Order: sequence, then C-alpha cells, then structure tokens
Amino acid sequence: MVKLPEFKHAAGELYSPAPYFRHFLIRSSGQYRRSVFDVLNSKPYRFNLSKLQISHLLDKRLLRIYTPTTTSLLSPSTPSTLPLPNFSVVSYNQHVHETAVPRPARLDVVYYQDNIIVVDKPTGIPVHPVQKYYHNTIQHMLANQIGVAPESLYPIHRLDKLTSGILIFATTQQTAATLKTCSKEKLYLARIKGRLVRNQCHDDLVYIYPTRHMLNVYTNAKTEFRELAHDFSRNESIVLAKLFSGYPHQIRIHLRNLGTPIIDDPLYGSRGKYREIIKSKDQVTEQYWRVLLSRSELVKSTLQTGATCDQCGQEKYSDPQILGICLHAWRYTLQFDADKKIQLQTRNLPIWMPKNFDFLDNLEENFIEI
Ligand SMILES: [Zn+2]
Repeated sequence: MVKLPEFKHAAGELYSPAPYFRHFLIRSSGQYRRSVFDVLNSKPYRFNLSKLQISHLLDKRLLRIYTPTTTSLLSPSTPSTLPLPNFSVVSYNQHVHETAVPRPARLDVVYYQDNIIVVDKPTGIPVHPVQKYYHNTIQHMLANQIGVAPESLYPIHRLDKLTSGILIFATTQQTAATLKTCSKEKLYLARIKGRLVRNQCHDDLVYIYPTRHMLNVYTNAKTEFRELAHDFSRNESIVLAKLFSGYPHQIRIHLRNLGTPIIDDPLYGSRGKYREIIKSKDQVTEQYWRVLLSRSELVKSTLQTGATCDQCGQEKYSDPQILGICLHAWRYTLQFDADKKIQLQTRNLPIWMPKNFDFLDNLEENFIEI
C-alpha cells in the first residue's frame, strides 16, 4: 500500500532583485514604417506596453524617439500607433521589475564534462530570460555558480517554469548543435488524479491564447504512460511518462485529455484555466473563448496590487503563489552514435514522491514498450 506524502512546492522566501534599468537602442530597418507601439510590442522585444504606459515613458524621458529629420523627441501626446519615419531610432530605458522566484543556495549539478553541464532544475524558476525574468533564471544562476558568462551557456531544451528535473546546457556552440540533433529518450514522473485508463495518448495539442484570440495546433504528438504506484485513500497515482515528441506542455495536456490530470496543474488540472478536454480546434467556440478570457482576467486580478511604479508607471504585481507542479524530468538518455550514450538522471526524487521509492531502481528491465 503506497502512501503519497503531503508537500509544499518551494517552501521558503522568494527573491527578486531591486528594480533596475536596461537600455535598448532599436533602429528601424528602413524597410517599412512601424509605430512605436509595434516596435516595442512585437518580436523580438515584446515589452507588452500599453499606449498609456508608452505615453508615461515618453513623459518621463525613459523612451525617446529620434527621426532622421529631427532630433526632437515625440511628445507624450503623440499617438504611439503613428507610423515612424524610416530610419528612426527608438531609445528605451526599461525599468525591469523581475518577478520573484524561490532561489536555492546552489543548483544541483548532476553532470559536468565534455562541454555539457546538466542541473536538476528546481520548480518555480524559468530556464532562460523571458518577459519579467532575467537574473531570476536558471541560466543566470548557473552561470554565477560556475563563474562563466550567461551567454556562454546554451540551453538544449526547455522545461516549464513550474516543472523540475534534468536540464541540459552546452558550453560551446558546436556541442549545442550536436546535442540538439542527437536522439534522446525522455522519462518524466508525474503525480496525477485517479488511475490511468489508457497507456498512451496521440491527441493533437491545441494551444489557446485567450488574450490574443489566437490558437495553434500541433499534430503527431505521442506520449506513453505507465502507473508506478497508486494511493487508494487519496485516489492519486505516480506515473512514468515517456515522450516520443517534445511539444510544450505535452505531458500536461495528454494527461488532462486522458481524464487524469496532474494534481496541481494551474493550467490543465481539474481546476485549471484549460481544464476542459480539447482535442481539436473545432471545440473552441466563441463562448469558450469568452470563458477563457474571463478566467485569464481572474488569474491576473489575484496578483494585482493596484499600485504603480513612480519611475516607470508600470503596474506592480504581488509575488506568485504557484511555485511548482508535480511533474519532474527524471531521466534523459542521450544517444550520440551506436557506442556513445550518456544517461542523465536526477539524484533526488521530488518532495511529492513517496519516500524510499525503489520501483525506479529496476526500471530498465521492467520497462516494456507499450
Ligand atoms: Zn518601474
């Protein structure tokens, strides 16, 4: 009889650096006339600034626009959607408010040789700089820990911010290229609600972005699952997941679609934002868009403080409350050629796994292709 433990993800204090400035000098290509709003909010920058914020930044002179004919600044009352003349230069002094993350004293390095470095990523921290995370990323923390520049670490794959486990970096571009193309076997552990009713899932992955009214579908996704333990009193199971394709959120979506979601998944769990089983884009009706939009607003509102920053005018948010989910990248096997293979495995099982769980010790013999 297995008893699954009570647990709390990333207990302890959260850390965020004091807000600081980063300067961006953006030259328009001269190919087409874009507005300041578009330049700042589209690729590659995606600063996600509202028109009101842009006006505030112009007012505070944190944002300056230089055109070929004049060095004068656009005034805060100039509409930010007005196309800029060709060859304009946008100077933006971004005030960075990083989102707080749990910060471990040290990252557990599980492998470090041949230009490959592998860590056991804790939950709650993104892999590389994105949106409101820059220093608060595994890439920066690891670079600090081993004394190299963050740019000299090349992430080979992603793990969601809320997921823990094997995370591989290369320390040279050449090794990164080799690692990206070599074949990999990826095994994950998850704690789910209920018991598996099927051992595999091939469903297409439908990604919905309510605020942008956008939808993406990925086909040919495949995951296999196997139950390792079941706790009858909680009606929860520990399962092993084997990935045959590597799309974002794949395991999370497939477990939801099987009716056995990860117990604490804020997106695909039984109370998650995308809790409904969606297997094709035809299921996403106008009414469903509205439901998702209102859920997004609700999630946002729980983090809003109502205060704004005096220096840059952006809204201040409270610290995140969801710091992990029961999904762990447990073992990656890299196969370079017939006789070169590296097996990477985390040293410690996550806190939501049963103690002294020895089932995994004999896994290789037991693992049967389904
Ligand atoms: Zn600020």
